[in-house]
Amino acid sequence: MATEKTEVVIVGVGAAGGILAAELGKAGMKVIGLERGPRLATSDFTPHDELRYFERQELRPSVKRQPVTWRPNTNARAKPLPVLNYGNQAGGGTVHYGAVSWRFHEDDFRARSRTIERYGVSAIPEGSSLADWPLTYGDLEPYYDRAEYDLGVSGKAGNLEGRRIEGGNIFEAPRRREYPLPALLPDQSGVLFEAGARKLGYHPFSTPRAILSQPYQGRPGCTYCGFCQAFGCHVGAKSSILVTKLPEADKTGNFQLRTGTMCYRLNSDNSGRATGVAYYGPDGSDNTIEADLVILAPFIYDNTRLLLVSKTAKFPNGFANSSGQVGKHLMAHITPRVFATFDDRFVNIYMGPSAQKHSLDDFNADNFDHSGLGFIRGAQISVSPADLEAGPIGAAMSMDPPPGTPRWGAGYRDFLAKYFARHAAIVAQTENLPYADQMIDLDPDVRDQWGLPAPRLTYDWRRENEITRVEFMARKLEELGRAMGATRVWRGRMGPGAPGAHHEGGTRMGTDPATSVVNRFGQSWDVPNLFIVGSSTFPSMTGFNPTLTIQALAYMSADAIVKRYQSNPGPLV
Ligand SMILES: Cc1cc2nc3c(=O)[nH]c(=O)nc-3n(C[C@H](O)[C@H](O)[C@H](O)COP(=O)(O)OP(=O)(O)OC[C@H]3O[C@@H](n4cnc5c(N)ncnc54)[C@H](O)[C@@H]3O)c2cc1C
Repeated sequence: MATEKTEVVIVGVGAAGGILAAELGKAGMKVIGLERGPRLATSDFTPHDELRYFERQELRPSVKRQPVTWRPNTNARAKPLPVLNYGNQAGGGTVHYGAVSWRFHEDDFRARSRTIERYGVSAIPEGSSLADWPLTYGDLEPYYDRAEYDLGVSGKAGNLEGRRIEGGNIFEAPRRREYPLPALLPDQSGVLFEAGARKLGYHPFSTPRAILSQPYQGRPGCTYCGFCQAFGCHVGAKSSILVTKLPEADKTGNFQLRTGTMCYRLNSDNSGRATGVAYYGPDGSDNTIEADLVILAPFIYDNTRLLLVSKTAKFPNGFANSSGQVGKHLMAHITPRVFATFDDRFVNIYMGPSAQKHSLDDFNADNFDHSGLGFIRGAQISVSPADLEAGPIGAAMSMDPPPGTPRWGAGYRDFLAKYFARHAAIVAQTENLPYADQMIDLDPDVRDQWGLPAPRLTYDWRRENEITRVEFMARKLEELGRAMGATRVWRGRMGPGAPGAHHEGGTRMGTDPATSVVNRFGQSWDVPNLFIVGSSTFPSMTGFNPTLTIQALAYMSADAIVKRYQSNPGPLV
């Protein structure tokens, strides 16, 4: 058993952990990063190995060795989730993500107050723990700007310091300057979506993505090959942590990355202060790091699990959990979708960056009047391949065939042959509300390869507010498909209540230590030398993908640590 000392230990070197590693290293702090997976390189993604990355999903955690279980309610027996949507290597999810990079709206940070102001308190569904964030968009705007320019995001501004600009997202919150790179080029599905949405009076735009539309900071522009989601980029045009912040952290000389290391416990002393972490090495050895500052950034499941397994006499319900809030308020995106086929043209949707190619924001957040609709909050709508992660052929096959077309045999073969290059999916990514009983705890029956209890999710999206919203969005998607000129439009099947994409919550931030786990900087209320970073701290979710916001928060935490905490360790206010 080895024991070493450092100033800062970061658990999980992904979207958030990679930023903290570089920023704290640049400030002269000695940092060790623990990462359970390997460190891959751009050369690992050449040639495009569809078997490894699409079929075997090698960049994701193994559902057998690293299970996360799910049950719809506390009476049901939990089963392992069939696919895990997060990272398992240095760079985390940013290595194989779709790179869709949104700033949240101003009202996303105050969803509760905004709802009450516009529709009255009764509009908030009974039992929902919808809460405002302890910070505003204005507080985070400088860090969004930094993330976009540091990492490299392509897009077109729709709101420059309050001036609305057609062609960009006119619903976006005000930004201080343009994106660092022009928007990526649209493919045929984007061209059709743009025209159809305009016909209906909506405001479509090219989805902002952390994929370079032109050479930037020594990296080449996108080749439009289509191997983004589930894949690492073979030229390094995707702005993953692997090609952005990790090289920067290396250069500081203050950062050591330990790959193949699994943190299994947070250590503390009798006063309740964090003293470091315990981890298993790649050879199975049991090791300890003593650190002045502990930063948790291993994604929401391990943020929660590590706190719950690290109980002490002072914190019998889990480390830093005197509020009893750890594990609560789990949220996930649910994605109703329709399929559209085109008899008169090729769409070739498998070309170009794969995720959420072209979008509209007219029905997201509180961008539209919800009076009388029976639900609050909205969804981001986009045109996408039928399945982002199955490669061109698998994607087409994952499309539910239209009513009347068989799922097998000659009829199915003919359908696929005809529509392989002539189809699109139109998808709504809905904002689902937090509820205290949507939660993560420890599964008493299932353990992972290290012997740790699996994180267990209790979650069912089928609540009245959510079902009504899904139905509203599905009708909008059908309308869009028809306006795009599709010959046929039909709905995809909806899942059984399991959480969909982008899991968030579990260690929510707030202003009150009695109802939240961390403050706006991700600093634990109970343990000031413990910071928790990632979407586990989000009090509400929005219809947008989370990662740029996770990263803006990581820059904000790093700034607070370097400029304030370092000289005066203690609670930040
Ligand atoms: C296929 C796919 C597509 C996606 N597309 C998008 C998108 O287009 N836009 C978007 O905004 N988001 C997208 N996401 C989500 C995005 O990847 C996550 O929001 C983001 O990576 C989360 O950041 P994080 O730092 O919290 O966790 P991660 O980036 O997952 O990093 C956590 C790291 O911690 C490591 N780790 C975990 N537990 C331990 C432990 N106990 N000890 C040591 N190491 C540990 C993991 O191996 C991982 O590398 C996608 C995700 C997937 C999987």
